[in-house]
Amino acid sequence: MTCSLYLHIPFCSAKCDYCDFYSVPLGPFTPKERERIIFRYIDALLAETERRCAEIAGGDGGGGGFKANTDYCRPAGFKANADYHRPAGFKANTGYCAQPPLRAADGFKTNADYRPPAGFKANADYCPAVVPTVYIGGGTPSLLGAAGITALMRGLGPLITAGGKYSTNTDYRPPAGFKANAGYGPPPDGFNANVDYPAEITVEANPESADNAFLEACAVNGINRLSLGIQSFDAAARRAAGRRGGTALLPERLAAAAEIFGPGLSLDMMSGLPEQDRDVLLRDIDRALSFNPGHVSLYALTAEEGTPLAATLSSPGGREGFPRGDEADELWLAGRDALVRAGFEQYEVSNFARRVLPGQKSPRCAHNIRYWRMENWIGVGPAASGTIIGDDGRGRRISYGPDVDAFIAGAEGIMAAEELDRAAVLRETFLMGFRYDQGPDPALFRKRFGLSVEETIPETLKKWRRFGGWENRVLFLNGFLLDAFAELDNSRIT
Ligand code: SF4
Repeated sequence: MTCSLYLHIPFCSAKCDYCDFYSVPLGPFTPKERERIIFRYIDALLAETERRCAEIAGGDGGGGGFKANTDYCRPAGFKANADYHRPAGFKANTGYCAQPPLRAADGFKTNADYRPPAGFKANADYCPAVVPTVYIGGGTPSLLGAAGITALMRGLGPLITAGGKYSTNTDYRPPAGFKANAGYGPPPDGFNANVDYPAEITVEANPESADNAFLEACAVNGINRLSLGIQSFDAAARRAAGRRGGTALLPERLAAAAEIFGPGLSLDMMSGLPEQDRDVLLRDIDRALSFNPGHVSLYALTAEEGTPLAATLSSPGGREGFPRGDEADELWLAGRDALVRAGFEQYEVSNFARRVLPGQKSPRCAHNIRYWRMENWIGVGPAASGTIIGDDGRGRRISYGPDVDAFIAGAEGIMAAEELDRAAVLRETFLMGFRYDQGPDPALFRKRFGLSVEETIPETLKKWRRFGGWENRVLFLNGFLLDAFAELDNSRIT
């Protein structure tokens, strides 16, 4: 089973007025106190992640009995020690695990002695991923700083390479007489066998705390995607929406991030801010694109219940400066059109990826696509949740309460499990899947529900095909889903 990993970093410098994510403002603490809180949290996060990965690996979490030495690379008939570096054409360890008997050479230490050849790409050549994607979100993960992200990634390394049970140093078995260093040469710069493994590792960051040391520590530790929260370059619009952090640092931080992450750079932008008219938004998008990101998320500002923004908007005169109803929609559409004109494709409600030529890797976010397609993931951290769905279409969602102190004291104490029956999973599969331009995953859908999507809601699909393509469906997603759920209710499919 493949299973992605979401790690929540529940700290921010200060709360933004529109935000309803769970995070604790670290502003009031001294630097020393912050460091102590952050490292205590990292320890708790790693311990809980290890426990959850082991659960999945051992089958207790519905994962199906993964055992590193026997199932690790998992092609049919795979035998770990004989077939270990198995993909056709793989050359990293020529002559390596070809023949039994396989015993560890005296004193061999994999992590220290293992030397892949120059040009070796772990993700492309290695084994099928157990953890295909990792997402470190928040809050503000860049508040971990260079030392914090390094500690987190080093601790995470052995867990994300083999589902939590595999221990490289004790389970790895080179043949007798194997000389790891002979002929292999030095590893490529920054190569770290344990953390280069998942295909995509994303970290969210805010420009104020994403300094060069943090960005470099991310790259060295295998993070290959950076999601940077910009929202707007316009100081008045940011201030009026209660977004923390000024604009002075933005160009410098963006240039550094673009250089380090290339097409792995994603920028979060926002429309519908107060004082933000069409010109301001289009200027914002132009400036964002001048740093050549591979990916842009364009969110419409929403007033979530209980936030200071919602209180402002409901107070007398509080709507002053904010775009209203249709104006806000038109603004977002103007932003969408600007992105499309600039060579981006909208592939989800709020997400845009730079178009690539056939055969090139798309900068779409693989981790989020797994959410939209209801593939399995574990979420760890206060207010995080994850869902594991079996081949029978039944699922189990595990969530943590929003309390960082309780999480540090013992994460299991704030953990809750919810069983999802087939009907609930089916509805959620539609709810999430149709946000994405490719829809729910056809093979996974059939495996879980025994039918294709077309066989499940034929009338809805026929009606909406007449109404236009994906662009219309996603613009009027609620209407599409109402039709789909009504058709489901009238069928006997669950
Ligand atoms: S920095 Fe991000 S997570 Fe933190 S309060 Fe602001 S919007 Fe919310």
